[in-house]
Amino acid sequence: MAFDYDPENIFAKILRGEIPNSTVFENEHALAFRDIAPQAKVHVLVIPKGSYVSLDDFAANASAAEQAGFFAAVAEVCRSEGVEEGFRAIANTRAHGVQDVPHFHMHILGGEPLGRMLPPRSQN
Ligand code: 5GP
Repeated sequence: MAFDYDPENIFAKILRGEIPNSTVFENEHALAFRDIAPQAKVHVLVIPKGSYVSLDDFAANASAAEQAGFFAAVAEVCRSEGVEEGFRAIANTRAHGVQDVPHFHMHILGGEPLGRMLPPRSQN
């Protein structure tokens, strides 16, 4: 599958410093910042600095160093945000996953009970 990256997406603009963000953590390969419209007490987005559209693009095509850097940022966010009692990591992907921003991002949600991930299929 080909992954076409749009360099004008909003997270690309954040990475270029064209749009401000509330940074939680940054390393060579990843940036973590607060979601502008939080859906839980803790709602942080972790994104790679490389141009990857989605989780499957990142998993297939990012280097080992980029993947390690990304997950090091996830670990640091979980540590610093104090989500010992649990959290949810979400990577919405393309149309079925209702992905709004076409730059791979992992939502880290927590700080309070989150309820079940999805309603049972019969209620959809
Ligand atoms: P998606 O639906 O693509 O998984 O999630 C995109 C997320 O990006 C949403 O939760 C939305 O609130 C967040 N978001 C969109 N634009 C901005 C922005 O300019 N700054 C920040 N910090 N978050 C944004």
